[in-house]
Amino acid sequence: MKTLHGIPASPGIAIGPAWLYSPDTPAVFPQLSQLTAEEERQRFSQALELAHSQLDALYEKTSREVNPDAAQIFEIHKMMLEDLDYLESIEDHISQLHTAEQAVSVTGQEFAQMLADMDDEVMQARSADVRDITRRLLGILTGQSAQPPLTTPGVVCAWDLFPSDTMQLPRQLVLGFVTEQGSHTSHTAILARTLGIPAVVGVSELTRQQLTGEVIVDGSQGLVILDPDEETMAQYRLAQESYRQQQAELAQYRDQESRTKDGVALEICANIGYPADADHVVEVNADGIGLMRSEFLYMDSPSAPDEEAQYQAYSQVLRKMAGKRVVIRTLDIGADKVPDWLDLPHEENPALGWRAIRMCLDHQALFRTQLRALLRASVHGRLAIMFPMISRLEELHRAKELLADCRRELEQAGVPVSHDIEVGMMIEVPSAALLADQFAPEVDFFSIGTNDLTQYTLAADRLNQKVAGLFDSSHPSVLRLIAHTAASAAAQGIWCGICGESAGDLSLLPFYISVGVRELSVVPGKVWELRRALSQIDSTAPLPNK
Ligand code: PEP
Ligand code: MG
Repeated sequence: MKTLHGIPASPGIAIGPAWLYSPDTPAVFPQLSQLTAEEERQRFSQALELAHSQLDALYEKTSREVNPDAAQIFEIHKMMLEDLDYLESIEDHISQLHTAEQAVSVTGQEFAQMLADMDDEVMQARSADVRDITRRLLGILTGQSAQPPLTTPGVVCAWDLFPSDTMQLPRQLVLGFVTEQGSHTSHTAILARTLGIPAVVGVSELTRQQLTGEVIVDGSQGLVILDPDEETMAQYRLAQESYRQQQAELAQYRDQESRTKDGVALEICANIGYPADADHVVEVNADGIGLMRSEFLYMDSPSAPDEEAQYQAYSQVLRKMAGKRVVIRTLDIGADKVPDWLDLPHEENPALGWRAIRMCLDHQALFRTQLRALLRASVHGRLAIMFPMISRLEELHRAKELLADCRRELEQAGVPVSHDIEVGMMIEVPSAALLADQFAPEVDFFSIGTNDLTQYTLAADRLNQKVAGLFDSSHPSVLRLIAHTAASAAAQGIWCGICGESAGDLSLLPFYISVGVRELSVVPGKVWELRRALSQIDSTAPLPNK
């Protein structure tokens, strides 16, 4: 028995035989072509055409079986196949009388390596995409197909899984996914979560193991157990059963109202990163989206997304939520979230530095693009716009002025904009919490970001393991700030929610209710659990001592 650790990518427990998935890229040996360069060019362009139609078919299948957002990756693959540098490099090799296979193989390796060498996770993920399209072209050119498909249920173990692999595998036979590569936001992780298949990614040395026996995937803890002994197997079978039962029991909370035992209503909403995550929110029937971290759109893109792309993304989410409130937070980059296309100067203390609203107010073109996209999308649902990292009143004033300015601009141009957009702010800096009574008259709502509020209040870096013990969102100092914020909101007649991780802390729920928090926003997978806990609370009961 051997236990490997990785990143928990999709919750649940899978048990079954390991199935090592290693679709070989067809071998290509360096040789000069027997054909003319023109004939090789011809072969390549036919392969390219076929690759495009294969990708169209995959796009269709994924749109139908998962959702159009998940299918987007195959559109990206098509765009990559049209990348001029990529095509030029292939053309160069062919004109040096190499075979089309060799031209594709060498180009693919070079481009994939170049991307893999970059520090940025998003760019590294693109490297896998280059390998994926290269493998596709080589498969077509050499006529060699990938390995025989899975025919019995198994746990798919792979060095990495390309989106096309994930989609081509027979879903009903895939018990779980384990990969050596990947991160929480890699495509496999996102697809696994969307499909509800347990997954652990980033398991180092996975493919060096003997993967011939049974394997347990604990997608909630990020554990992979190879050749488990009888006792572990028995334990996990029980755990799997109780997880299933729990999910089944919790499912009854899907269509229940979010209320305490004595009838106090709270909104239990969900946090999302990508537009596709909204499907999951709809599935669990959350009361709305309490936080869409719009920076995901910026992080996962080779350049800042333009107004149209953002408009499409926000509209999609609003439409999916069909009239329920969607709080979209404006761009919060900087600190630990730096997209590759943004050349940020080095900072000694980036968490205290030039991030979120601070950067947006300095980069007005970037900010206005987002505000215009949000305003345009507002007609598709019930939009709330939220500004992050506000630490002083002037920042809020300037952000609101820019928003009003963008609205004027659009209205003058005859573009429809909703008149019911709520405008709010995150309370995640202690100064904002302390001055919540002064902020309250200026906004329609507060949403408390307890992740940052805790790190700034207790001076404990949220990313630093060494001070993880000091990072405590239930510390009395943080609770006092929450209480003051909620009371200031209530005094002004606006709502106050929490969207940091501790919104899902069941032990704090009675406290949140008692101070007047009216909305909690958690990962979609936690909505039912929170709704159940809420239904068991009597809001008139005295609070346990804290
Ligand atoms: C927070 O700080 O609590 C929050 C919700 O924002 P993020 O985690 O994205 O910084
Ligand atoms: Mg924050």
